[in-house]
Amino acid sequence: MAKYRKRGYRGAKHRKSQGKKFQYAAIVSAAALFLAVTGFAITATSDGIENFSILPAYRMGGTLGYEEVITLPIFSADEKSEDVSSELSIPEKPDSTDSSQPPKTPETSSAASSSDIPESQPPAESSLEQPTSSIMEDPKQASEPETPVPPPIDPNGPDYQKSYPDMFVPPVEKKPFDSNDKVCYLTFDDGPSKLTDQILDILDEYGVKATFFVAAKDDETSKQRLAEIARRGHTIGLHTYTHDYRKIYASVDAFLDDFAKEREIIYNATGEYPTIFRFPGGSVNSYNKKTARAIIDEMTRRGYTYYDWNVSSGDAEYGATRESIYRDTVSQAKACTKAIVLCHDTNAKGDTVSQLPSILWELKRNGYRFDKLDPSVAPINFPVPKQ
Ligand SMILES: [Zn+2]
Repeated sequence: MAKYRKRGYRGAKHRKSQGKKFQYAAIVSAAALFLAVTGFAITATSDGIENFSILPAYRMGGTLGYEEVITLPIFSADEKSEDVSSELSIPEKPDSTDSSQPPKTPETSSAASSSDIPESQPPAESSLEQPTSSIMEDPKQASEPETPVPPPIDPNGPDYQKSYPDMFVPPVEKKPFDSNDKVCYLTFDDGPSKLTDQILDILDEYGVKATFFVAAKDDETSKQRLAEIARRGHTIGLHTYTHDYRKIYASVDAFLDDFAKEREIIYNATGEYPTIFRFPGGSVNSYNKKTARAIIDEMTRRGYTYYDWNVSSGDAEYGATRESIYRDTVSQAKACTKAIVLCHDTNAKGDTVSQLPSILWELKRNGYRFDKLDPSVAPINFPVPKQ
């Protein structure tokens, strides 16, 4: 604060020494005296009201849209910290933080240069820290482990809603698909098999994660392969235990029985229950014409997401060759920005494995990234005919 006083006296002295005529000197002296007195008045005012004296200068910031910068220091006293966090909504936090820069804009610096800011005024950056951290530490914001809530059961609905009461997953919001993001989801059905390890090695070599819709049996080798798929970071989806179309599509109860059996096998091998699945033969096939709608409704009610495909390698079709597998996969995938590719992982699918490196290389070369499915990925589902 002494700076104001010093400047005023120094200015007066200087101008006095310049004056050659008395009249001119008198005018200058009067002006200098006025400045000195005014400066002193400002100083006194500043000392009197502490931080608030600087506010008129900072208030200019309010018109620039960063009024939080002003209010935060004022409310940064310990006893007020709760008020700050309750007044500041979380969505505003990034904006107010970003707008901590405006104090450096020309308008602000001309109104209150850094030397004019009283030392008791905390710098803008540090003043933001306290309210921000108080928001971060707000116990209301801390995430608590949630107990999964079972889906509601329709009292007038079918009895199968009551079977396997623990067989459900919390619904997951689907991420919107970005059409500029060329993504390929490789899926391998019917495994694990003696080729699973080779598939895993190739995927590792190309740094690719994929999805395995498994129909594993309850033997040690299958369990070890399931565990290895999970250990390498791929998604394990369920593809039923028997994979027997006539059995699983006979009724909703039959499907649930089969699903529950495979679900336990996956859990025993990996320690995690699957959250996604694929219908054998796809969701629309000639065996589930009477039951597809009811099975889909029941599985959806339980929170499960099922995935069909929009690219077929054709590796399970009669007459498939290495060439056809490569050609069909690559040409169909290139026609999509989001490709869910159907392949198979059985002992007989050596041709698929042989083409996998070429398929990965070609699609990567064309700008595709590869990813694994999870319930947040919006599914591709065949339209189910009315039943
Ligand atoms: Zn299958």
